[in-house]
Amino acid sequence: MFELITDREVLSQKSKPAKVDEESLGILKQMHETILHYRNTESPIAALAANQIGYPYRIIVLCNGDEFVNMFNPEIAIADGSVEIWEGCGSIPSAVCLCERPRFTLVNYTDEKNSPMILPLNELGSHLACHEIDHLDGITILDRSKKTEYVESEKQKTDVLISRNGPLFAELKARQQAEANMSKDAGSLVK
Ligand SMILES: [Zn+2]
Repeated sequence: MFELITDREVLSQKSKPAKVDEESLGILKQMHETILHYRNTESPIAALAANQIGYPYRIIVLCNGDEFVNMFNPEIAIADGSVEIWEGCGSIPSAVCLCERPRFTLVNYTDEKNSPMILPLNELGSHLACHEIDHLDGITILDRSKKTEYVESEKQKTDVLISRNGPLFAELKARQQAEANMSKDAGSLVK
């Protein structure tokens, strides 16, 4: 259930517009569960597109701390500045790619309550949104890559991304580990 799609043929297909209905909310729930599942592994994911778990609809989820930002039909209204960062992707095992992304983006989308939203995103948030919206257009980091390197394991991938991208990613990983520990504690309290 938590396996991410890795078939490049499938990943290269464009996703269809999403309606906020029962089916989409069910997909959204599965996306949250998938992100939470990966949080307890050596290759945590900070965002996900619906087509990575087999649903060809324009839905993405970004993690903001322990909060999910749910975006239906996201569109980049404004993109500004540019920065080169090393990216990995749960759907592209063993590869890290040097990609160029905007430093700032303004994203229009519909939320899970069917309300229109506008969200400004800086740095990592901007990179994540662009990476996920690319997935909806059938574009992966291999298509964007200026330089691709292959690593031996998912753990090594995470380590390479942290060492090449600096403090921003180290902070993200520390936060994800703290959250994973918190959710384990919460689990043991419930039991
Ligand atoms: Zn990806």
